[in-house]
Amino acid sequence: MPLSTSGQSFDLAIAGGGIFGLSIAYAALKQGLKVAVFEADKIGAGASGGLLGALMPHMPARWNPKKEFQFRALGSLETHARTLESETGMNTGYRRCGRLLPLTTQDKLDHHLERAEESLERWNPDKTGFAYSVEPAGSYRHWLSPEAAPFGLVWETLAARISPRAYLATLASYIRQHGVLVEGTAVTRFEEDTGQVIVSNGKGPVFAGQMIYANGHASFPEIRRLTGETVGRGEKGQAVLLEGPELENLPAIYCDGLYVVPHGNGTVAIGSTADKVYEDGTPSRERTDELVRRAVRFCPKLAGLPVLSAWAGIRPRCNKRDPLIGRLPGYERTYAATGGYKISFGIAHLAADALLGEISPTASGPALPDTFRPEHHFGTNALPADNGHMHLGA
Ligand SMILES: Cc1cc2nc3c(=O)[nH]c(=O)nc-3n(C[C@H](O)[C@H](O)[C@H](O)COP(=O)(O)OP(=O)(O)OC[C@H]3O[C@@H](n4cnc5c(N)ncnc54)[C@H](O)[C@@H]3O)c2cc1C
Repeated sequence: MPLSTSGQSFDLAIAGGGIFGLSIAYAALKQGLKVAVFEADKIGAGASGGLLGALMPHMPARWNPKKEFQFRALGSLETHARTLESETGMNTGYRRCGRLLPLTTQDKLDHHLERAEESLERWNPDKTGFAYSVEPAGSYRHWLSPEAAPFGLVWETLAARISPRAYLATLASYIRQHGVLVEGTAVTRFEEDTGQVIVSNGKGPVFAGQMIYANGHASFPEIRRLTGETVGRGEKGQAVLLEGPELENLPAIYCDGLYVVPHGNGTVAIGSTADKVYEDGTPSRERTDELVRRAVRFCPKLAGLPVLSAWAGIRPRCNKRDPLIGRLPGYERTYAATGGYKISFGIAHLAADALLGEISPTASGPALPDTFRPEHHFGTNALPADNGHMHLGA
């Protein structure tokens, strides 16, 4: 946006226009704060600009505050998406599609029967309507190959899908209308003493009461510069989009470490891989071909569907896996919100409300699970400096 921010003061400046940065900006604007988002490249240039959009719950076993938070987030996301849609007149591609999990051994069947039992207490289906049940072998055979699920399958109705790019575009539209969103401009530094936000293109000065680093994997070197600790790294993943007409009402499948997610626009996404070591952030033909080959084995309907596009992204991954959300140690006004490994789209709106509850005296958000908080990530959990760098070129 060619808006001049020069000389302006904001309550909140955010580095990064991915799902975390935009969700926090949206929550802050709703609180009446004056907000500026700076995106180094363009909206969705990072890990959030992908194809998959799986919104998947944790299993209803060994329940803990993180699972409770995610359950609550997934339960409230539909209302959040519908509100956003009515505010902007745009579509997020959200649908509660449910998910199938094939069971390949007797052990897995026994295990999931126990989980189904536990879900009665944790998911409370009578009240929430979210069910987790074990279905006999051969169920959903029109979609999931019976050979892939010889011991039956789990059918759960909490899982949903969203179009990552459409969701980002909807959030960005709201932010442009009510705040400031500047693309092509990186935050290079925030001076706590003066509140000055120093940005890459020499424009300025810009001032902010608080600064949030929500710049994905690029936040880790920045956090190291600020705190001396390396709390995460980038990890590459890939996905592929096929033409999938008439598949849009089918559930998502999680099998063999892969997701198959039908979308509302006549496409179906398959992802993702996890590559700790990578040459660059572009899709590798070999890896995406492999994704399709593996998916066709358990989902034969995908065979021969034309490939529309392949995509790769580098997602932020904290060493402790859970996202890092909160004020950086040793700082008064500098925060980080990053690193939601695989679950970001499902939780970002609630994590944003929680963070706003800490930042703004007028906001009241839910409590964050302890494992999302800085205390969990810094200190003994940090890796030595040279282990935490991006693995580009490794
Ligand atoms: C293949 C793949 C599939 C995935 N599938 C799913 C899924 O199905 N469901 C799910 O929930 N999650 C999924 N994820 C994970 C999810 O995409 C990430 O967890 C999430 O996008 C992280 O969001 P973010 O906002 O923290 O970071 P990003 O989306 O990476 O955003 C960071 C942004 O900051 C910008 N930036 C960098 N430095 C600066 C700076 N100094 N100043 C300003 N801007 C800066 C970048 O350009 C970028 O746009 C997947 C990831 C991959 C790679």
